Amino acid sequence: MEHNTSNFIRDIIIEDLKTGKRDKVITRFPPEPNGYLHIGHAKSIIINFDLADEFNGKTNLRFDDTNPLKEDTEFVESIKEDVKWLGYEWDGLFFASDYFEEMYNRAVLLIKKGKAYVDDLTADEIREYRGTLTEPGKESPYRNRSVEENLDLFERMRKGEFGNGEKVLRAKIDMSSPNINLRDPVLYRISHATHHNTGDKWCIYPMYSFAHPIEDAIEDVTHSICTLEFEDQRPLYNWVIEECEMESKPQQIEFGRLNLTNTVMSKRKLKQLVAEGYVDGWDDPRMPTISGLRRRGFTPEAIRAFVRELGVSKGDGAVDSRMLDHFVREDLKLKVPRTMGVLRPLKVVITNYPEGQVEMLEAEINPEAPEMGTRQIPFSREIYIEQEDFMENPPSKYFRLFPGNEVRLKHAYFIKCEDVIKDADGNVVEIHCTYDPETKSGTGFTGRKVKGTIHWVEATQAVPAEFRLYEPLIIDEDGEEKEDEDSKNFLDYVNPNSLQILNGFVEPNMKDVKPYDKFQFFRHGYFSVDPKLSTGEKAVYNLIVELKSSFKL
Ligand code: ATP
Ligand code: MG
Repeated sequence: MEHNTSNFIRDIIIEDLKTGKRDKVITRFPPEPNGYLHIGHAKSIIINFDLADEFNGKTNLRFDDTNPLKEDTEFVESIKEDVKWLGYEWDGLFFASDYFEEMYNRAVLLIKKGKAYVDDLTADEIREYRGTLTEPGKESPYRNRSVEENLDLFERMRKGEFGNGEKVLRAKIDMSSPNINLRDPVLYRISHATHHNTGDKWCIYPMYSFAHPIEDAIEDVTHSICTLEFEDQRPLYNWVIEECEMESKPQQIEFGRLNLTNTVMSKRKLKQLVAEGYVDGWDDPRMPTISGLRRRGFTPEAIRAFVRELGVSKGDGAVDSRMLDHFVREDLKLKVPRTMGVLRPLKVVITNYPEGQVEMLEAEINPEAPEMGTRQIPFSREIYIEQEDFMENPPSKYFRLFPGNEVRLKHAYFIKCEDVIKDADGNVVEIHCTYDPETKSGTGFTGRKVKGTIHWVEATQAVPAEFRLYEPLIIDEDGEEKEDEDSKNFLDYVNPNSLQILNGFVEPNMKDVKPYDKFQFFRHGYFSVDPKLSTGEKAVYNLIVELKSSFKL
């Protein structure tokens, strides 16, 4: 693996190994199974797995499933599939909920040490008592319960003697700490709900900030990598490790999350796009989810290259989403066949070509990868071209077909437009051309030059195909950030033209394409066969990216 981009976490690890602070590297990717993974999660996955790989370490996949109300096995399965698809194999597969007993015991230890207490304040009261950034908090009247009383109450919380919200367990730290996270944070809450993994065994659940450090320590994680918004929680993370007397001492390190232009990434917003029908499910090809990107035709290689190029820093400004496009083009350029597809067909009759004759033309599958060999393309008297490749009254510098003009048909002959056939309403329905047999591609014809080369598909054998063209789902260049500033709803930024469906034709050698097969369509871009919408009769091609972009790396 190349490392030409900066990664301050790698530097920390190198130092830790050098000084002997650590003798191994164990990381983890800890998703909450409450939704589908998105490209931001891919950054976290790639950072964690790559760092462990580089230092012969291990990476666990751990489901941070401490909230029974939002989590589901459906999400567990999709997350596993997505991590594997990205190209990674986890060492351990764990569920935070498997540690509930251990967490409970550690909480009991805190109570015994006088470091935790059961509080009867309501959630609102706790918030009120917490104070603000400028004012210290107030101590709860229940803060000085005896250890015995706390032990008894906590046990009865577990047994289900109290209703939701009646009591919580809180850490006893410092109500006047400048760090609000240390003002007696809640460690356990009551929730009478069925958990996807533990069923009805528990009715008290640990809070993230208590559970997470314990999970890391149990798994002997050395470097616990998370996003910047957890920076203020680090003192609490360390407090839990210390006071719960965890043997292993993981270190929390925060990095800047990935934000992309023209994209929203919070699960809440993605959920809303699905629920309100703006897209057709979590794996809609316009979604920034891993499953959406996969279905659209993005490759794990491209996503990994993109994330590696970003490096790892504390910055979290929005990255131009076209940068990801750049990497998928780079990945596919030499890998996929080139072919011709006509998205908006216009019939052309070549009047001097013998009726009933079909000849086979040979063309390279990918001129940049000659080892891919050649393909045969039929040519005959009737072909389809792109509607936009003909204009009856062209502007200057239009070098494609217009009455009297000659163009090159890719891999075939020069044709010249002789006649335009219209329907009663004046719409062009057919073009009549002549061809020059001398100009056959590959024969070295140099007699004269033409300025335009257009693509085509032979009409009698053309295979009908559906093409789905995409534009960014969110119009706003700054994505989520802008929205928060002017407090507009992000739905105001949804692009009404994000999907365009066209029906055209592809070359006959593409009759038997399979889901996820990818092609570069001459002059159009990279496309991938949709796994859900394609049928035996008709393949659906998703536009992955257009051929060119103004974006420069
Ligand atoms: P969301 O805010 O979208 O709901 P989350 O952070 O709640 O995401 P988790 O399942 O808790 O989702 O995330 C698992 C891991 O992925 C965490 O370590 C989290 O920090 C990381 N992660 C989430 N979003 C991003 C992002 N945009 N860039 C980098 N890492 C991310
Ligand atoms: Mg989260």
